[in-house]
Amino acid sequence: MKRSSGLVLAAAALAAALAASYVSGPIAAQTREPGYADRLYVIDGGLGHAGDAGAWMNMMVPPGTAVDISAYAHVIRHGNDWMMFDTSTNDIIATMPNGFGGAANAIRWTKTQAQTLPPQLKAIGITADDVRYVGVSHNHPDHTGNISLFKKSTVLIQRREYEFITRNGGAPQGPPTLQGAIFSRNHPVSQLDGDYDVFGDGSVILFYTGGHTPGSQVALVRLRNTGYVLLSGDAVHFRSNFDTRRIPRIQAANEENRWLETVPLAFERVAALLQFYKAQLWVHHDIEDYKNRKFAPQFYD
Ligand SMILES: [Zn+2]
Repeated sequence: MKRSSGLVLAAAALAAALAASYVSGPIAAQTREPGYADRLYVIDGGLGHAGDAGAWMNMMVPPGTAVDISAYAHVIRHGNDWMMFDTSTNDIIATMPNGFGGAANAIRWTKTQAQTLPPQLKAIGITADDVRYVGVSHNHPDHTGNISLFKKSTVLIQRREYEFITRNGGAPQGPPTLQGAIFSRNHPVSQLDGDYDVFGDGSVILFYTGGHTPGSQVALVRLRNTGYVLLSGDAVHFRSNFDTRRIPRIQAANEENRWLETVPLAFERVAALLQFYKAQLWVHHDIEDYKNRKFAPQFYD
């Protein structure tokens, strides 16, 4: 009895998630001939370290196993336009000798000056002012740490994420951290209702996944030589989690975002996208991925 009501709940959640992907709103359908992003740059956002990976990896490692965790920002060039997808941890962490965070089982984040955004953007030949769009996978501070650098950019965020982080009124607030407001209330924002084709040519598409947070999204980038790349945000935490469909055991997040029900739906959406587009999955926090990335000013095209 209990089991079948759980299945009914899961089915209802699936239907809601699918509906959320197709609701009406300012969704740019593909309005131009299919195109490509010209370049995808990976910006090194430093590292995190957690004393106990078990909570994140859900019994795939022995208790007390430590883990290193990567963080990134991404820069996409599309013709004369520049776009970010995520902005990594706050650059102020580079001034903190011991990094930031790390209480109990939490992650301690560190970065060097070379891992801050301005020098890496400069190496590409741009500044924050050149960036037209900042796509945000979700509100957490390891992804949104530097949005306020991009004063002229429009933030592309799912409406349900924006509503979640502004639910108390005032400026968008994430989890309590050094960051305070993620960006100011009057920062230009485009609130997305589900999937969004950023340039109207299928070259960069933001897909709603939910799961990790109410309005999590991933970015699919089409490149001429590399093919399709799917940037995971935190819809997938580690590659091993995705491969085995294991959900992290973080009590508070399970309660807040119903991970046991919503993360599997996000996994399945990611799996369907990978299959349909024959895309590579780049897992944001997976340290093995990090070791294999080439960083700006090198690029993928
Ligand atoms: Zn994250």
